[in-house]
Amino acid sequence: MRSRRLRSVEESELLATARELAERFGRRAVAHDREGTFPFENFDDLKEAGFLKLTVPKSHGGDEISLSTFLRLQEVLAAGDGSTALALNMHLIRFGGERESHSYPKHWFDEMCRGAVEDGWLSNTAATEEGLGSPAGGGIPETLAVAVEGGWQITGRKSFTTLSPILHYFITSARISAAGTAPPEIGTFMILRDDPGVRIEETWDSMSMRSTGSHDLVLKGVRVPDGRLMNRRTVGKADPRGGAGQTWFALGVSATTIGVAQAARDYAIEFARTRTPLGNAPIREYPGVRARVARMDVLLQRSRALVNDAAQAWTAKGEEGMPALDRVAVAKVETMNACIEVADIAMRVVGGVSLLKKRPIERYYRDVRAALHNPPLEDRALEQLARRALDQQPTPARPTE
Ligand SMILES: Cc1cc2nc3c(=O)[nH]c(=O)nc-3n(C[C@H](O)[C@H](O)[C@H](O)COP(=O)(O)OP(=O)(O)OC[C@H]3O[C@@H](n4cnc5c(N)ncnc54)[C@H](O)[C@@H]3O)c2cc1C
Repeated sequence: MRSRRLRSVEESELLATARELAERFGRRAVAHDREGTFPFENFDDLKEAGFLKLTVPKSHGGDEISLSTFLRLQEVLAAGDGSTALALNMHLIRFGGERESHSYPKHWFDEMCRGAVEDGWLSNTAATEEGLGSPAGGGIPETLAVAVEGGWQITGRKSFTTLSPILHYFITSARISAAGTAPPEIGTFMILRDDPGVRIEETWDSMSMRSTGSHDLVLKGVRVPDGRLMNRRTVGKADPRGGAGQTWFALGVSATTIGVAQAARDYAIEFARTRTPLGNAPIREYPGVRARVARMDVLLQRSRALVNDAAQAWTAKGEEGMPALDRVAVAKVETMNACIEVADIAMRVVGGVSLLKKRPIERYYRDVRAALHNPPLEDRALEQLARRALDQQPTPARPTE
């Protein structure tokens, strides 16, 4: 009982800090969004608050927060600035997922933990390429790793590299070109910011999540020793990070999206409470506005419930009902669609002035859309559900007595 209470105090303290940070980030977000600049000062604040090591295991000097605490914090931070929260998500999930899957060599995991705890160094994957699209589609990267004496020489270009302005560890996928590798193999390599041949090209100019610094990573003949090969797999074989990586990623993105949609809802409610067109009744009295406000709360509450359900199922590793990974897919798809609807409704409640750049609500409307393009993508998530329902052996019915 005592330890339960202690844990919740810790979580409430973290939430209070997250609220303070979100408030600060919200004030800075307008300018960063307009200019498409990276919020370096937000990451200084996150480092100062100890938020860059939240998911690092305690054995490595971190806080080892649970999946559900992580999700609550993401939601709060995203209500201030979706870009900062999404970028932080990419870093924190490395440790959350890896705590369970152990897919990286131990010395690299130790080093990433040390970097996060001691230096505030950030990690993320660089997997997407313009030609390849989402690596979740199972395609082969164009980025090529050629075996050379004592190591590898890597050449290619990665797009959507979130956090690239300050990343230290770029966990990069490449097609392996070496004797005896047919069918083709994909390797995951540790590329470090200071490696000769590494360059960031500032290509990120999007309508959504504009301050995530998701620029191109350009690798020109980058030479790395053998020890930088983190893992390798034959094309078509499962990602070695397995379900843990997918779960932390998909639910982290979902919680971030809920936070942005909640900010849109809160803005619309504040507006509806205070707006009284001259000579008219306050808009909160109109039935259409009231129905929209209620609808936003239904959608947000449903999203949160689905995310919590999936997180609990994953953490409990129970076998009752729908498998945890399918619940993760359901939560992600439902949340992103619901949150897009919430932001749309919020814009309608606010009316014509919602379009003005000086109001944050148009940013929320753009930012929620990014969830559509982070895995699991809708078509693939639905196919995962259909495959279990239609192509796999049904689970035998339980006896009723
Ligand atoms: C804000 C943001 C940050 C990101 N950060 C990162 C990052 O840090 N690192 C990183 O590596 N990536 C990152 N990404 C990239 C992301 O993970 C996707 O790889 C990227 O958005 C491309 O996805 P896509 O669906 O357009 O790709 P594509 O695979 O080109 O898909 C295009 C369309 O075809 C459909 N499609 C393609 N293949 C299939 C299939 N097999 N079955 C069904 N439908 C299919 C897709 O559903 C989609 O509609 C980020 C994306 C965003 C939006």
